[in-house]
Amino acid sequence: MARGLLGKLVSRALSVAGKSQHQQLRRLNIHEYQGAELMGKFGINVPKGAAAGSIEEVKNVMKNMFPNEKEMVVKSQILAGGRGLGTFQSGLKGGVHIVKVEETEDIAGKMLGQILVTKQTGPQGKVVSKVYLCEKLSLVNEMYFAITLDRTTAGPIIIACKKGGTSIEDLAEKFPDMIIKVPIDVFNGISDDDAEKVVNGLAPKVADRKAAMEQVKKLYKLFCETDCTLLEINPLAETSDSQLIAADAKLNFDDNASFRLKDIFALRDPTQEDPREVAAAKADLNYIGLDGEIGCMVNGAGLAMATMDIIKLHGGTPANFLDVGGNASEQQVVEAFKILTSDDKVKAILVNIFGGIMKCDVIASGIVYAAKQVSLKVPVVVRLEGTNVDQGKRILKESGMTLITAEDLDDAAEKAVKASSS
Ligand code: GDP
Ligand code: MN
Repeated sequence: MARGLLGKLVSRALSVAGKSQHQQLRRLNIHEYQGAELMGKFGINVPKGAAAGSIEEVKNVMKNMFPNEKEMVVKSQILAGGRGLGTFQSGLKGGVHIVKVEETEDIAGKMLGQILVTKQTGPQGKVVSKVYLCEKLSLVNEMYFAITLDRTTAGPIIIACKKGGTSIEDLAEKFPDMIIKVPIDVFNGISDDDAEKVVNGLAPKVADRKAAMEQVKKLYKLFCETDCTLLEINPLAETSDSQLIAADAKLNFDDNASFRLKDIFALRDPTQEDPREVAAAKADLNYIGLDGEIGCMVNGAGLAMATMDIIKLHGGTPANFLDVGGNASEQQVVEAFKILTSDDKVKAILVNIFGGIMKCDVIASGIVYAAKQVSLKVPVVVRLEGTNVDQGKRILKESGMTLITAEDLDDAAEKAVKASSS
């Protein structure tokens, strides 16, 4: 299936499952320290800092980069926001700490290897494999700045708010009138006028306005030249010595640009992604992990959507969106089945195949082959229809597997929901 169609379907798939913060593989997300380095290369002011993955590395950074520092900012590096207000599973509060320099190693040690849970990670949290050690700046003002792509204006849009620090959702609720949006003409680029509007919206208290305009232009240049889908700096801060500085960095990139952004795409960190999606991407399956209890294996994106809807209609929730596509191999079906069965939350599996280009017997062989490799602990409901359906049904029957067969989509969904709750 074409990526474009998937893109359109994804947002609906997510709303079906009531999960909006879900991270997709279709755009690259990089760590804050990597984003800061990239911004630095584009002439954007960022705090001095370095990442460390062990206490040994923390010691080295402190010795080489910060020999005379009094205080440090120690920031957990995970691919999710809300770290400041997050809590570690160990009980430690806050994924971002400002500490006296002699406490740096201690706090870094309490973060490294630990699981941080924030508003955006989901309850399972994300592991902190690196900390970002930054100079402590005295921030006198925190603002919000973002560039993203806007459907209405069909181009880049800059979003700015003179109050920042907390999430944009909270800002939008508390200060709706303070948020300004400046659409940029993608062909003409950012004008002085645009940059001025943005700076007016940011309303810096001490920083030089001309210098601020230059920073906004550089941020826009970075956004365009590296095919960003999102560049969010929260907070964009002012220091007591009147500098404008990007004190956080969230950068996402368009996966379709990976061929020309090799260096950036090499930064991808699969340890931070949904392991089910990483496995699915490897097997070249169109898969999106969700929160429900019914694993779905379907061919065709439209049928996959319909299957998810009908599961909902019968009172269940899908555990995933999965379109095995029109020409999936038996091996891909096996991989798909492995992903579904490795998910603890899955209480039943619904296979819904309408054989057209995809043949029912290939799906059936894949299921039988997969069942031999993984121990099947949950009931499987199968509905097959279309090309080679009789062969498919015979393969399933002769395998001796305990399967629940269904006549049509409605019947299949009803049986899957029932099987998942018994
Ligand atoms: P997030 O919670 O994941 O968005 O993490 P941030 O990088 O935004 O850090 C959380 C908060 O820590 C920020 O909103 C700032 O208030 C504070 N912070 C981050 N860096 C610095 C710094 O260099 N100096 C000071 N004083 N505060 C900082
Ligand atoms: Mn932030």
